[in-house]
Amino acid sequence: MARHVLVVGAGVVGLNAAVELRRRGFDVTVLERDAAGHAATSHGNAGIVVPSHFVPLAAPGVVGQALRWMLDPLSPFYVRPRASLELARWGWGFLRNANAAHVARAAPLLLELNLASRRRYEALVAELGVDVGFTRRGLLMLCHTERGLEEEARGAATARGMGLDARVLSATEVGALEPGIELDVVGAVHVRDDAHLDPGATMRALRARLEQNGVRFRNGTEVTGLRDRRDAVEVEVRGPEGTGVEGADAPRVEAPTRWCSRAAAGPGRSRGSSACVSRCSPARGTR
Ligand SMILES: Cc1cc2nc3c(=O)[nH]c(=O)nc-3n(C[C@H](O)[C@H](O)[C@H](O)COP(=O)(O)OP(=O)(O)OC[C@H]3O[C@@H](n4cnc5c(N)ncnc54)[C@H](O)[C@@H]3O)c2cc1C
Repeated sequence: MARHVLVVGAGVVGLNAAVELRRRGFDVTVLERDAAGHAATSHGNAGIVVPSHFVPLAAPGVVGQALRWMLDPLSPFYVRPRASLELARWGWGFLRNANAAHVARAAPLLLELNLASRRRYEALVAELGVDVGFTRRGLLMLCHTERGLEEEARGAATARGMGLDARVLSATEVGALEPGIELDVVGAVHVRDDAHLDPGATMRALRARLEQNGVRFRNGTEVTGLRDRRDAVEVEVRGPEGTGVEGADAPRVEAPTRWCSRAAAGPGRSRGSSACVSRCSPARGTR
């Protein structure tokens, strides 16, 4: 019998994990706390696939921007402020690594990772066989000031040194690339290796393909706790079947999942319920 794996979260990471697990023969259920199943960041980001973004955030001159982003809930680098020793340790490590030596060490690895990511997207788009707007036309970094353009031009030189096709364009050349748009720029850097796609369309197509391949989705189901047991991982979930059903059956994560009634929501425990999921061993049937 196929081994059963729960994936927590139907974002791009969860769905791609589900793709790989299914490919390797696992029985997969994706638990997603959003009721509609599509509130994830992955559905509404900018959709750019960027080998050119190989400079780590911990870099000289980027720390100020990174710190501003960390406090902005709408930024791509938001970190919920909280009193946490772990977070303080991470912050200290981040500041300590914001130096040129760290960038020189990390950049080739990040470039390799980014190129692998683009290759993976290309393969995925071909596998899906649906138009998700994947286009490999490059990325324009538009610059409003000479200083900004000089900075980007230095980045472009580094990118060229690492094998990317990065060119500095004048305002006229930018205009020729984007006719019909009036741009108040002094120039731009054009990295032709970058690509973009429609993230919402990609996620919808990915999910449809997973459903066709037998992956189950449980929207509105939040994982509220995990406990490692000897031969299983206990997963506490709160979902449509579980909410407010005190002491009743645990919500069902279908298929070969073993339920731990001892951990099910009981009187006084309010809303949570638990499932016990067999971990990479032949599943032993439902409760
Ligand atoms: C403004 C912005 C622009 C961006 N632009 C780009 C871009 O152009 N290109 C790019 O590559 N990246 C971009 N990113 C980053 C990219 O969107 C994220 O790195 C990526 O979406 C993260 O995917 P994920 O699956 O880890 O998380 P998410 O997309 O956040 O998915 C996580 C899912 O897990 C669910 N979940 C969380 N906790 C639980 C739980 N306890 N139980 C059940 N479900 C749970 C959530 O509801 C959510 O649906 C951008 C990010 C932002 C914010």
